[in-house]
Amino acid sequence: MTLADNFAAVEARIASACAAAGRPRHEVTLIAVSKKQTAEAIRTLAEAGQSRFGENRVQEAMSKMPELPGSLQWDLIGHLQTNKVKHAIFCEFGLIHSVDSERLLHALEAAAAEHGRRQPILLQVNVSGESSKFGLPPDQLLPLLETANSCHHLEICGLMTLPPFTEDPENAAPHFARLRGLRDRAERETGHRLPELSMGMSHDLEIAIREGATLVRVGTDLFGARA
Ligand SMILES: *Cc1c(COP(=O)(O)O)cnc(C)c1O
Repeated sequence: MTLADNFAAVEARIASACAAAGRPRHEVTLIAVSKKQTAEAIRTLAEAGQSRFGENRVQEAMSKMPELPGSLQWDLIGHLQTNKVKHAIFCEFGLIHSVDSERLLHALEAAAAEHGRRQPILLQVNVSGESSKFGLPPDQLLPLLETANSCHHLEICGLMTLPPFTEDPENAAPHFARLRGLRDRAERETGHRLPELSMGMSHDLEIAIREGATLVRVGTDLFGARA
């Protein structure tokens, strides 16, 4: 299988999951997770037609971006440390998926103001309440959205989650449904639109699309297993 074959196979899975869910294909955007992949592999996938890539470390993204065409779009999907915030803003990521604390929100706001940029972000929620150490507890979502309202250099576009891994992807369904429910409730209570739901990876993207994902983050099934 070449990268172009992998890309076609993932695209076919997304299209059939959208069809099964009665959703138009354009409602779901594929983010190719390129962590630990070489610039060469990223370029090959870009030539096959993929334009949006996700990295999980700021330093790794900074080292690859200059080697690749300026037409590519980059998202930051991994945990962000406060001391990397300035670099993250400097990278001008299209979307930062992993904002999960008030401290991070304030640091991003300050750095974005200094850089003269309005940075799109998602709030990462730990819906399962276990396994993952990242993501805010669901009961902190509304207070954090209130804080975010006063951050004029941040644009809150929606929510992200990373459920615990289990063999059967169907087990992720309640976590995805919960994220969507939290989003619906937050929209009702704040009047603020949160259109994006970043959820679903290689092994559970069909389930995520069925439960309302607008952004799926796929690494392994596009690039092959990571070293
Ligand atoms: C690595 C990673 C992915 C992609 O996972 P695959 O199983 O390789 O598709 C998605 N989201 C996040 C946050 C990741 O770190």
